[in-house]
Amino acid sequence: MNETTTHYDLVVVGAGIVGLATAWTARQRGLRVAVVERNAKAIGASVRNFGFITVTGQRRGEHWQRAKDTAAIWRDVAPQAGIEVVHEGLLMLAQRPEAVAVLEALMATEMGEGCNLINAKTAARDWPWLQSGIALLHSPHECRVESRDAIPRLSHWLEHSLGVDFFWNTPVLGIDLPHITTSRGRLRAERCVVCPGNDLNALYPDVLAQAGIRQCTLQMMRVSPSQVLKLPSAVMSDLSLIRYEGYADLPEAQPLKARLQVEQADHLAQGIHLIVVQSADGSLVVGDSHVYGDAESPFASAQTEDLIMDEFHQVLNLPKAKVTERWVGSYASAQDVVFKAQPSAGVAVGVVTGGTGASTSFALARELLDLALGA
Ligand SMILES: Cc1cc2nc3c(=O)[nH]c(=O)nc-3n(C[C@H](O)[C@H](O)[C@H](O)COP(=O)(O)OP(=O)(O)OC[C@H]3O[C@@H](n4cnc5c(N)ncnc54)[C@H](O)[C@@H]3O)c2cc1C
Repeated sequence: MNETTTHYDLVVVGAGIVGLATAWTARQRGLRVAVVERNAKAIGASVRNFGFITVTGQRRGEHWQRAKDTAAIWRDVAPQAGIEVVHEGLLMLAQRPEAVAVLEALMATEMGEGCNLINAKTAARDWPWLQSGIALLHSPHECRVESRDAIPRLSHWLEHSLGVDFFWNTPVLGIDLPHITTSRGRLRAERCVVCPGNDLNALYPDVLAQAGIRQCTLQMMRVSPSQVLKLPSAVMSDLSLIRYEGYADLPEAQPLKARLQVEQADHLAQGIHLIVVQSADGSLVVGDSHVYGDAESPFASAQTEDLIMDEFHQVLNLPKAKVTERWVGSYASAQDVVFKAQPSAGVAVGVVTGGTGASTSFALARELLDLALGA
């Protein structure tokens, strides 16, 4: 690169989902855009996640609205970028009366719009692979993409169909507009949006320190169900109702929290709740746990995996399911669900700090672009 002759309207740092969503939004507004990524391809949280674009359960208010908007954009963008939407919706199995009370409370809010509470008999008839429960919430808002395939397809489409320039293997070392200094030379741009994910040390460390971020490490696995099975939707369980703030912040969640603290203390100590989604080949992506620290933990615990699989078997009647792949991922976590800053004129920094970047990236991208443009 050395010094590019192109003067970009916008340079985006980071080719995770937040960076790609920002590049897409900027192209929608007719800007000339480049994305600069330190690695040869995206290998961070954006390809390690469930690809589960979740609306119901997101923090009530602004963040829930971000998720609604983002899901709508995914449904629009995915077919254009050649990304398969693997399944739609969410099935939340309630196995305790306290969990049913949370779902009923959710249904009475604006967050219950479009959702259905299904009784146990109907659930058993329609979804025989679910263990028995008392009630089942169906939310139609969610969709799922296979992230490890979707993220490369999205960047390929942005480059080859929408004319975004990509600079891979290129860490950005400093930003002093109109100059963006990288390990390979300089780019020129009017504006810059920094989407560093959980890399808090390379650019604006003092600004990012204000967010109070810790690193959250999650264990994930792929499970083969050993029988032909089509999950129509993602599946979650009682533990999710005290983790996802859209449910957990409702007063009705308190009795469920108290009960689960007694019955599933080991799961809660590892931050475990259950998400099960399905891939096109029929395998299931299952997780997850949440352990917090000052750095990503590279190690996966067998005990944590056993606890996740224990919850899996409580919820799904798939006794012969086998783990075929394991990985860890991490994201930047803080009290607030999103961190945005404008460290200097024309520059915006954005980090999803609530573990929901697949679900909220496109809406956040609009906010980051407005910040950089001073709109
Ligand atoms: C295991 C796991 C499961 C999850 N499940 C879900 C889910 O189902 N649904 C959901 O909504 N969210 C989920 N999340 C959260 C979601 O994946 C993240 O919020 C999201 O991927 C963050 O995207 P990002 O682009 O900010 O970060 P990243 O994907 O980490 O991308 C940041 C990129 O910036 C690059 N970068 C950083 N600094 C520089 C620099 N100086 N120069 C050049 N490049 C740089 C990095 O190399 C990286 O590629 C999950 C996360 C994990 C870890």
